Amino acid sequence: MSPAHRPTHPRDRAWVEVDLAAIRRNLDRVREVAGAQVKLVTMVKADGYGLGVRRVLEAIRPAGPFGYGVATLDEGLELLRLGLPEPIMVYTPLPHGSLARCVGAGLIPAVSDLDTLAALGRLAAPPSASRDAIPFQIEVDTGMGRAGFHLGEAATWWPEVMRATRAGLRLFGIFTHLHSADHPELGSARAQVSSFDRLVRDAAGIGPDVLVHCANSAGSLRLVSRTANAVRPGIYLYGGDIGDPANPPRPVAAVRARVVLVREVPPGATLGYGATYAARATERWAAVGIGYGDGLPRVLGNRGWAIAGGSRVPILGRISMDTTVVRVSGDVSVGDIVTFVGRDGEAELSLEEVAESARTIGYEILTGLSSRLPRVRI
Ligand SMILES: *Cc1c(COP(=O)(O)O)cnc(C)c1O
Repeated sequence: MSPAHRPTHPRDRAWVEVDLAAIRRNLDRVREVAGAQVKLVTMVKADGYGLGVRRVLEAIRPAGPFGYGVATLDEGLELLRLGLPEPIMVYTPLPHGSLARCVGAGLIPAVSDLDTLAALGRLAAPPSASRDAIPFQIEVDTGMGRAGFHLGEAATWWPEVMRATRAGLRLFGIFTHLHSADHPELGSARAQVSSFDRLVRDAAGIGPDVLVHCANSAGSLRLVSRTANAVRPGIYLYGGDIGDPANPPRPVAAVRARVVLVREVPPGATLGYGATYAARATERWAAVGIGYGDGLPRVLGNRGWAIAGGSRVPILGRISMDTTVVRVSGDVSVGDIVTFVGRDGEAELSLEEVAESARTIGYEILTGLSSRLPRVRI
């Protein structure tokens, strides 16, 4: 379907299209590769990677994932408001002041240090038969460095974890996070997985009901753990490439905006803040209703591309907060749709290509899309 025929409101100046069938297909692919017995903890943090958590859940929920992963307390509370019955796990270390709210709401915190474990223990005290044990996950640092109990010091912290499980807490899961599973060279990722596997195998007290997991999207599709019974895919579900030619994601997001003005300008006419572009000849400039205030990276000015009138057109000058100008030929007029990420007919600007032009990664492009852009399901 060409973008001109998509069900957007003619009033919309710019929007994000979210292809729910593509999310579902990417999720099914993870399940197929990881194995049907492996539990899916689908990561929906940062408002479903910027695509709108309600939208992406419309695609994910029917697939019956085991649970959901978020980064913050507020994100977890939002999922609860949506009425999700599956377990919701919070994956960043929480400020101690948020722990009571987190466990009180039934969200499952990740614990990376003994102080937090003790703080949770105080919330469980005194343990009583009439109250359910408080579930928590343990993060193990195998090289990511940002959180987790240190792998090499398990002799110190593991007995404390076990003690906590006899004092009103319940070990819900244990996990680590891979730093390079999307790199061409998988040596370091394999080393992380095997050291995690060794820890899990050697640690007494991890029953079959404990969630054991180490794989992000790339790990889910490219690596095998001997102990894991779950995976935590994120970016791949939303169309992000994970460095595996055997598993290209189906594109999910398109960023589009309308032409709001078209003008013919004489040679030498200057454009944008700093007048960093000047017309080389008589040119047609189309002003498009999207800017860095919508999340279009400003660094794409004089550098990035868009698709207008069925072909690639260059972004001219600096991107403004609300407006971006592209050079077009005669067949583009006011109201036409310009694509900044995604496909239009034969032409395509992949998420990866746009991210590379913006010197960043697809994750940052998606999560940077601002609330000004409606998320439209297609
Ligand atoms: C974001 C995140 C994931 C998902 O990673 P992707 O690369 O998006 O698949 C998995 N686990 C944790 C702890 C995360 O923070």
